[in-house]
Amino acid sequence: STARSLATCIFCKIIKGEIPSYKLIETELSFSFLDIGPLSRGHALIIPKDHAVKMHELPDEYLADAMPIAKKIAQAQGLENYNILQNNGRIAHQEVDHVHFHVIPKPTAGDDEG
Ligand code: 5GP
Ligand code: ZN
Repeated sequence: STARSLATCIFCKIIKGEIPSYKLIETELSFSFLDIGPLSRGHALIIPKDHAVKMHELPDEYLADAMPIAKKIAQAQGLENYNILQNNGRIAHQEVDHVHFHVIPKPTAGDDEG
């Protein structure tokens, strides 16, 4: 792979397997896994395999690859209610400086979590 990575980036380390994660779906351009501090059960993250800090710095092909993965995760979990979230910059609540899309299920009264 020609993907660029940053030695100090935790998400680059997850892609390389240097930090363990619960992997969901992997493609040539993207990697997805469960969030370590889930806001609800099934909270997932989708990241580009190339290191970029903010979404506007990421080549379009990575963006185009990410949303079908979000769709597959939502379908696999049978979600009807969920949020897709993507934070850029500290003021916008970005904590990890490697682009990531959240898929956050919204459990409802009928679910066992809520
Ligand atoms: P942000 O606030 O940057 O949009 O979200 C970062 C997310 O990454 C948080 O929801 C946090 O729980 C998650 N996270 C941070 N470090 C790790 C890690 O080492 N492994 C996993 N699986 N998730 C992480
Ligand atoms: Zn990175």
